[in-house]
Amino acid sequence: MNSLVNNTLWRTQLYINGEWRDADNKKQFSVVNPATGKIIAHVADGGAIETRCAIEAADNAQKQWKHLTVKARSTILRKWFDLVTKNQQDLAYILTCEQGKPLTEAQREVDYGASYIEWFSEEAKRIYGDVIAPQSNDKRAIILKQPVGVVATITPWNFPCAMLARKLAPALAAGCTVVVKPAAQTPLSALALAVLAEQAGVPAGVLNIVCGENAEAIGHELTTHPLVRKLSFTGSTAVGKKLIQQCASSVKKVTMELGGNAPFIVFDDADIDAAVHGAIASKFRNSGQTCVCANRFYIHADVYDQFVEKFSHEISQLVMGNGLDKATTLGPLISPEAVQKVQHLVDDALAKGAVKKDVGNFTLSENLAEEYFYPPTLLINVPSTARICSEEIFGPVAALIKFTTEQEVISMANATEFGLAGYFYAQDMSRIWRVAEQLEVGMVGVNEGILSNEMTPFGGVKQSGWGREGSHYGIEDYVNIKYMCIGNLT
Ligand code: ADP
Repeated sequence: MNSLVNNTLWRTQLYINGEWRDADNKKQFSVVNPATGKIIAHVADGGAIETRCAIEAADNAQKQWKHLTVKARSTILRKWFDLVTKNQQDLAYILTCEQGKPLTEAQREVDYGASYIEWFSEEAKRIYGDVIAPQSNDKRAIILKQPVGVVATITPWNFPCAMLARKLAPALAAGCTVVVKPAAQTPLSALALAVLAEQAGVPAGVLNIVCGENAEAIGHELTTHPLVRKLSFTGSTAVGKKLIQQCASSVKKVTMELGGNAPFIVFDDADIDAAVHGAIASKFRNSGQTCVCANRFYIHADVYDQFVEKFSHEISQLVMGNGLDKATTLGPLISPEAVQKVQHLVDDALAKGAVKKDVGNFTLSENLAEEYFYPPTLLINVPSTARICSEEIFGPVAALIKFTTEQEVISMANATEFGLAGYFYAQDMSRIWRVAEQLEVGMVGVNEGILSNEMTPFGGVKQSGWGREGSHYGIEDYVNIKYMCIGNLT
């Protein structure tokens, strides 16, 4: 790619045991830029054979990696962080080319991903055990924390850089080795991260990347191979459930970061401008393709009209286009199928009585692939029976519902099988505590539309998943607890 400063970051081969290689059968699959619909790369199409090879390499490498001092592992991770930061522009460019998000968002994603590498380079040194009061004076009880072993990670296309960094950093810090399966739509960011990891001194076999179109075949190996001790997955709840079942056969540890259906509540005492600002950030970032996106907007009847007016004005200011254009604030969706799925949800809501509010015309320049774009859409008076209220939209559509009482809105907000993020805007401190405590979610934004960072725990309750990523809790999923009892002391 001519636009890269560091051309070595553009890789299209698998990375296994420290070697860049093709699939055994030489097959490749294509990666498309969703803004233009054009093929930008042909990537080696790995499958079960390559996955097994990667798992064996990871198992071999783990024997040395876990015995490095934490200081040594920490230093390598820190170097990796420095390299990712140094190559931020190139990584963001690759990300936008394969995923479509605006370049500024891609840059923020690279920084966000890097922050996990930095954080866990530090946390590596703080994996503390325990000394527990002995049962009798001739005994001592000690708790050791040890790496779980080979970790498999399966990551999605919506944050191809950050989702990977968020899993790799704690795994490597804890002394685990990893086999990664990135989403087939966005393998290039993962491969570029591996180039920098190698350069930072991550030894051969410690990090392996198997790209491939046959997710089932790769996933089956990763979830059933006895040498894999843990799976960390980010993706849809449907696929997550399947992977949990597959992992059950060999009782692997699992971390699951699954779908969401975030409520975004605006109470009558809210600062409406702040709420609109938060709503735009939460709803339209990454064209609405995030699992913590506001999916259902509940607006108090007394501020409904005011909110609709201000929100529609702000939506009309969005600029839809190619993420590589500086002016763009809203990129394409990942595929034409994604666009159709969003359209079905909108059609269903309209058929059930929702009204589409005019937020202006969004036209595209001729060289862009229209079938990948969905214009920002505001639906008002959406009935709670509409599918859009219970399904993840994953597109730039805001669905507004009117409410009148606090209890009513809490019930509606919790009436979902998901429990990832929730947001609300209010000023009254008693209400803030009441509502925050009652929302059935893993993360709650109070007067805030964006809440994730490396120092805080990311994850959900209910069918949104198991485990937490980031923060000091984030490393716990990558260590086993071993109780050591020393007896017969005199
Ligand atoms: P999304 O709808 O966001 O694409 P998915 O859950 O389908 O979410 O995909 C998330 C990740 O899971 C991707 O890397 C995808 O390739 C992978 N995946 C999808 N189906 C399977 C499967 N049956 N086994 C293993 N991985 C899978």
